[in-house]
Amino acid sequence: MAKIENKITIVENILRANDQIAQQNRSRLDSANLFSMNFMASPGAGKTSLIEATIGNLKDKYKIAVIDGDVASSIDADRAADAGAQAVQVNTGGECHLDAVMINNALNQLELVETDLLIVENVGNLICPSGFQLGTHKNVLIASIPEGDDKPYKYPQIYQNIEALVVNKIDLMPYVDFNMDYFLKGVSILNPGLIHFQLSCRTKEGIQEWLDWVESNL
Ligand code: MG
Ligand code: ZN
Repeated sequence: MAKIENKITIVENILRANDQIAQQNRSRLDSANLFSMNFMASPGAGKTSLIEATIGNLKDKYKIAVIDGDVASSIDADRAADAGAQAVQVNTGGECHLDAVMINNALNQLELVETDLLIVENVGNLICPSGFQLGTHKNVLIASIPEGDDKPYKYPQIYQNIEALVVNKIDLMPYVDFNMDYFLKGVSILNPGLIHFQLSCRTKEGIQEWLDWVESNL
């Protein structure tokens, strides 16, 4: 029994330390006068594609930076840099989420004062990224049609800890049994009034509404 209590205390301490550093990150981002988002999603939902589309459409007006979290490789950071952003790769070395310390270190490598928009691409995973605040202004979940319409019911925590939701790959609706009403009903139970966007990074349908919302925060 005592062992179990110790374990719980350690986990709570780790999360409290993370939240303190997340607050420091937020202060740095606020004082640099930029808008920041933490993109969370399962692997393959289209985080990097939405980052590319956002950079492609807004880079002429705003300076954009990307912090890319992956277990290994720099494929996604390379894509962000190719699209026209300042990009920093964070390899987590096996960890399945980003934490506030990793972001704190990555921020040291960016010219924050000159940056207008910072996008953090979290590791593809619907579970633990939502438990680690990074200090960014908005947590954004990218869901996608092929994942299925039951995800809010199966992964409620991440749907509760977001400030915006993107439903990507709506061009695949004719080919997949995805009941949008059932999906959105689950979302509204968990997070009433959550702003959400239905779009396709491939066909660009719905992208403008997303870009307008991003710009409204800049
Ligand atoms: Mg990616
Ligand atoms: Zn994790």
